[in-house]
This record gives sequence, structure tokens and C-alpha cells, in this order.
Amino acid sequence: MHPALAADLDRFDQLLDAARDRAVAALRGLADRPVAAPAPHATTPAEPLPEDGAGGAAALARFGERWERGLSGSAGPRYLGFVTGGATPAAVAGDWLVGTYDQNVVSDGDSAAADLERETIGWLRELFGLGPEHTGALVSGATMSNATGLAVAREWLGERLGVSVADAGAAALGEVTVLSGAAHSSVTKALSLLGLGRGALRELPLLPGREAVDVDGLAAALAELDGRPAVVVANSGTVNTVDFDDLRAIAALRARYPFWLHVDAAFGAFAALSPAHAHLVAGLDEADSVCVDLHKWLNVPYDAAVQFTRRRDLQVRVFRNAAAYLAPPDGTDPDFVHLTPENSRRLRALPAWLTLAAYGRAGHREVVERNIALARRFGERVASGDALRLLAPVRLNVVCFTLADAPTRERVAAVAEAAAAGGEVVVTPTVYGGTPGLRAAFSNWRTGPEDVDRAAAALAAAAREAGT
Ligand SMILES: *Cc1c(COP(=O)(O)O)cnc(C)c1O
Repeated sequence: MHPALAADLDRFDQLLDAARDRAVAALRGLADRPVAAPAPHATTPAEPLPEDGAGGAAALARFGERWERGLSGSAGPRYLGFVTGGATPAAVAGDWLVGTYDQNVVSDGDSAAADLERETIGWLRELFGLGPEHTGALVSGATMSNATGLAVAREWLGERLGVSVADAGAAALGEVTVLSGAAHSSVTKALSLLGLGRGALRELPLLPGREAVDVDGLAAALAELDGRPAVVVANSGTVNTVDFDDLRAIAALRARYPFWLHVDAAFGAFAALSPAHAHLVAGLDEADSVCVDLHKWLNVPYDAAVQFTRRRDLQVRVFRNAAAYLAPPDGTDPDFVHLTPENSRRLRALPAWLTLAAYGRAGHREVVERNIALARRFGERVASGDALRLLAPVRLNVVCFTLADAPTRERVAAVAEAAAAGGEVVVTPTVYGGTPGLRAAFSNWRTGPEDVDRAAAALAAAAREAGT
């Protein structure tokens, strides 16, 4: 064994203690840490590959000197950019143990890891109000969850047309139509990846003043296909205004037209945890495939999402990995290697399992309901001041707003940059209804009313500054 490695084996405990001290300091300082690292992020010039390693303790210290200050406060309470979850205490502990046990959740073989993942998926299914017919797997994020669901949809199109896309390729399908109202950008990325092409997506009319699809427009588009099977991507929680398609009305159209219903509920699925908001995802159980992110509103560390489908047989057709040393998929409970894009897979179920075991449905409902209340509070701050104005009503956990005066792309971006540079808040620039604006997304378990007030004050000050 290399001497540096042998020495670390002897001092494993001390190395982990040093890492733990660093983690505790980072977590303690999170609320006060600047939300975004000032550019340039690298604090020293790039270094060459070390020939002789320094050993774990010295390497950890080097990381602290060179990189730690350059990391953002994205796990903290005032990072409101994109839709960013933090990581609950139990989830962080779980993530440490993922690396410790270093399981490869390919198959059942010699470990209970796959059963732990199955139990986690069962808990998640219950959390989102899905039934036992929805089976699934954990993947790296909602982009991969959408891609997996759409891959199964692609196989279903083949089944309708009497071809196996898994064997013959996407060209065997001819022209493919994917219909959606306000699809997330990851859907077009998935269509590109799957060989269906970004051009397969037809964007449908939305309801007036909304980001939800006009179901009559969807029906008309389906009628035009003249019986040709299609894929419908319904959206449960759009990123600008958190609008929800009417899933029940969309699902009912299947009595008249053949289509696969995929629902992108990356963070919107968590509305199911709040009795006052669960109606927004009514009908989710009728979907053929469902995408939900876990590193957003479940507050587990990156990277984790879940995908569900009612057609595991088709999923196995797509992802089957035939090798002499692997059991063939047995139909009832196939190994994960036959279900997901990856072959080797980390035990990313463990942080999700631990946070659900630690805080339960009620604990996670509290996070969701608090975040919704905080979004409303932030919306009230925006609406009651004179520097900013709302671009849309606050429907759930995202506030879409802009400058009260002359909101150009440049001025809006400058306000976001100034607020982030002050260390107070990260928000994401967007365009809504043709107007440049900003989004503040509440999905971190740590965020409280004082964070909302600090964030709103910093943004209003930056907006007034930009106006003078
Ligand atoms: C975040 C998000 C995605 C993509 O998720 P990743 O985890 O970044 O891959 C897809 N759809 C919606 C609605 C999202 O909010």
C-alpha cells in the first residue's frame, strides 16, 4: 500500500473528525454566509496534479484554503434561486453514510440496499398520493426522471404501432408528437437525448393569464392527429408561477384519444402534503409516468429524484441490461440495473429514507406549508413597497416579480447581482409574459420570516438604487 494511503488507514478516525469539524463549522455559519461566492471563484491559480499526495489531513486543509470560500450558500435559507432545496440534518447524515457503505445498487445479490430503495420508493409513492400500480426508481434529478418517463413513453408509442423502439430505434416511430403547455426546458433536453428531437414538442395555448394548458386546445391538437398516438407532458408546478395543469381533465381525454400521460411534478408534487393545496395535484395517480425531484422540496442533498410509471414491463424493455453475470429481469421485481439509465448506482435512497424516518410526513408537511406561507409573505412585501411589483399571483412557493419602473433585462439582472453581491439573497432572472423579472423560490427547510424580510429589503434597496 502507498505510504500516504497506509497512514490514512491508520488515522481514518482523525480524518473523519477533521471533516466533521469542517462540516459543523460550515453548517453553523450557513445562515450568515454570503449567499453567493464573489467571482472569481477560484481563490488561487490552478495547480498541477500532485505526484506525491499530501495525505488526507493536508489535502483537506488544502481544500479549505483553496476552495471552501468559493462555495455558495446554496444550502442556506436565503438562496432563493432556481428551486433549491437544502439538506435536513438526517439527510446530511444519510449522505455521509452513502459514501461510507459505498453500495452499488445494481441488483439484490448480496445486500439489502435494493430493498431499502424499494421501501423508500413506497414511502414516496404514499407521500404523493400514488397507488401501488406506480413503481419506480431513484435517478439523479428531474431531468433524468423526465428522460426515463419519456423513454417509457417512446416504447409505448412503439407498442401502439407494432414496433419495439428498444430494438429498432426511434426512427421506426416516424413522426412523433409531444404536446405540452409550459414544458420545463429539461423536457426538450430529454427529447433530444431520446432521439425524438427537440422539434417533436408542440407547445399548446395556455389559459389566459396562466401557465396552465388550455385543455380544449389540447383536445383540439389531439383530434388533429387523427388517431395517431401521442405523448402529453402535463405540468404540475411551472417554474415561473407554479401553475398546475388540470390533470383530471387531461386524463379524461384518454377516453377519446390515444396518448401517454407524463406528469412533470418536479417540485409541485409536494403540494400533495398540504391539505389546503393537495387539490392542485388531484389526478396525479392517473398519470402513466411521473417525475418528482428529491433534492428540491424533500431537502436531501444533490443529486436525487424519483421516477414512477405504471408500465414497468415497458421500462424493462428500454433499460434491460443483458449480461452473462446479471440475472435477467424476472418481471415481478426486476433488479434496478434493468430499470434506469445507469448500471452502477449509489445508494441515493438512504438520505431520503433517513429524512422520512426522522421527520415523517408531518415534518415534511410543515416544511412545505411554511415555505408556502413565506412565499406569500415575500409577495406581500413586494406588493406593498414602491420599488417592486408582482408579475403573477403567488400560487405556491415561487414569487415572480419585477421592478416597478422600466424593467429591462439589464436592470433586472443588475438588481439580482447587487442583492447577491451584498450576500443577502440569490434570486433568478426570468421573463414572464414578455416582461423581464425575477423569481424567488422557497423550498429550503431552514428559511424563516426573518430571512424573507432581509431578502425583500435587500431587493427593494437594490431596485431603488437601480432606479436612481
Ligand atoms: C428543476 C426542474 C426540472 C429539472 O430538474 P433537475 O433536478 O435540475 O434535473 C424539471 N422540471 C421542473 C418543473 C423543475 O422544476
